[in-house]
Amino acid sequence: MAKRDFYEILGVDKSASQAEIKKAYRKLAIKYHPDKNPDDKEAEEKFKEAAEAYEILSNEDKKARYDRFGHAGVDPNRGGGGFAGGGMTMEDIFSQFGDIFGETGGPFGSFFGGGRQSTRSRGERGSNLRIKVSLSLEEIAKGVTKKIKVKKQITCDQCNGSGAKDSSSLQNCGTCRGAGMVRQVRSTILGQMQTTTTCPTCNGTGQIIKDRCTKCKGDGRMYAEETIEIPIPAGVEGGMQLSMRGKGNAGRMGGPAGDLLINIEEKPHEHLQRDGMNLIHDLYLNFADAALGTSVEVPTIDGRVKIKIPAGTQSGKIFRLKGKGLSNVQDYGQGDQLIHVNVWTPKKLSDEERKILEKLRESENFIPQPGKSDRGFFDRMRDYFKG
Ligand SMILES: [Zn+2]
Ligand SMILES: [Zn+2]
Repeated sequence: MAKRDFYEILGVDKSASQAEIKKAYRKLAIKYHPDKNPDDKEAEEKFKEAAEAYEILSNEDKKARYDRFGHAGVDPNRGGGGFAGGGMTMEDIFSQFGDIFGETGGPFGSFFGGGRQSTRSRGERGSNLRIKVSLSLEEIAKGVTKKIKVKKQITCDQCNGSGAKDSSSLQNCGTCRGAGMVRQVRSTILGQMQTTTTCPTCNGTGQIIKDRCTKCKGDGRMYAEETIEIPIPAGVEGGMQLSMRGKGNAGRMGGPAGDLLINIEEKPHEHLQRDGMNLIHDLYLNFADAALGTSVEVPTIDGRVKIKIPAGTQSGKIFRLKGKGLSNVQDYGQGDQLIHVNVWTPKKLSDEERKILEKLRESENFIPQPGKSDRGFFDRMRDYFKG
C-alpha cells in the first residue's frame, strides 16, 4: 500500500507552523485514541498513522528531509534492506505524548501516558547516537556495507543491565509491591477514570537496588567500542540521514536502546562530478582530434570505456553513456554519464606550429559557420534533460 502524505494525514499544508502541526495532531490523537475506540482496527491504524506523521513533521530535521526526499528520506525501512525496525510501536507513540500533552502535570498526561498496561516499560530509553559516514562515488554507485567503530554506551556486562551488585541486592519496591505501577483516580477529558501510572519510587522496574553494581555504579550501562555494520543503499546523497533502530546508546537500567543516526557525506571524485543521478565528465580534446575524429577512453564509475569521437566534433558537445550514472535511492530509474567535450586551444606554439596555423587561418573551412545542429550550450543542455 502506498504511504499517504504526512501533511495530508494531519490535514495541514506544507507552510503550517509547528504550533498548527501540534494542534492538528492533538485533535487526531484524541479522536482515534485506542481507549476511546476499543477493538476498532481502523481507528488504531489512523492513530498510528497520525503519530508517525507527527513524529516526522514535528522534528525540523526530519521534516526538512521529508520535504526534500519524501518518505524515502525518513523511512528506516527503505533502501537498505538491513535496517531494523520500522513503523512506530505503541510505546513510541505514548512516549510522544509527554511532549504533546505535558509530561505528568495535566489530566492528559496521566491519562494518555499511563492508563495502558502495555505501555509499561522498564528503565529509560538510551540516547540516539550520531555518526558521519563519508562515501566515495564508487560506494554510492553500488551501495556498500560499512563497518564503523563507534564508542557508545552498552549494557553493563557485570550486572547485565540491572544495575545491582548481585541478585540478592535487588528488592521488591515497597510502594508498588513489585508491580511497577500504581493506581490512581483522575478526572480526565473523558470523565472520571481509574488509571494506573508508573511507580515513582522504582520508575516502573518494580524493584529497588540495595547494593549497586560496582562496575556501572547502578546505571546498568558502560562505555565500550563496538563495530557496527551499516548497510547503505545505492544512490544516497550527501546530506541524507539514515537511521538504524536500536543501534544507539543502551537504555538505563535495562531500558530500550536509542537509534543510530547516520549522516551521509560524499567524497569528491577525481574525474566525475555528480548531478543528481547523472555523472558528468569533462573531456579535453586537442583541436586535430576534434577535427579529424578519433576514439578515446573515458573514465566511468565502473572502469574505462572507449568512445568514438566523430570528425568535426564541436567544443561543448555532450555525449551520453546511457545507464552509466547512479541509480535512484528509491529504486526508480538509472542516471546517465554525460561527457562534456572541451576542445583544447594550445597556449604555446613552436615556430613550425605557428607557420602551419598561419597557413590555415585564411582557409575557407576554418571560418566558423554554425548551423542548426551547432546550437549553443544551453540549447544542448535543455535537450539532454528533456526526456
Ligand atoms: Zn553494572
Ligand atoms: Zn515501585
